[in-house]
Amino acid sequence: MNTTTLTDSQREQLRAQLEQRKELLLQELDAVQRDTLDVAAAASQGDLDEPGSPRDQANSMAASMVRDAEAARDHAELVAVRAALERMADGSYGECTDCGQSVGVARLLAQPSAVRCIACQSKAEARGHR
Ligand SMILES: [Zn+2]
Repeated sequence: MNTTTLTDSQREQLRAQLEQRKELLLQELDAVQRDTLDVAAAASQGDLDEPGSPRDQANSMAASMVRDAEAARDHAELVAVRAALERMADGSYGECTDCGQSVGVARLLAQPSAVRCIACQSKAEARGHR
């Protein structure tokens, strides 16, 4: 069995997964954006209860930092998912972006947006990239 090349049905399955993931991420990012706007609007209208104890402010700051971190992660994933869909369209999907070898079917099935083979991914992580 050839484990370095995707079959057509595997490719279709991954494409569907990527499309689904993209939609989900777009929805999440949209929700975060609406949330942020709501808070900003409430703050500018002075609608928030009590100007807030330092503790409340710290809490809401922590909450917004978590939200920002989640949004940043969602956004990074969205970029990766879109790039994977583009590579599918131009036929380079499944090739390692670093060495040009096959990323490997098992790896793609586990992580459809993977851009590197395991060897190059480990090297990239050692260099501090993801
Ligand atoms: Zn590689």
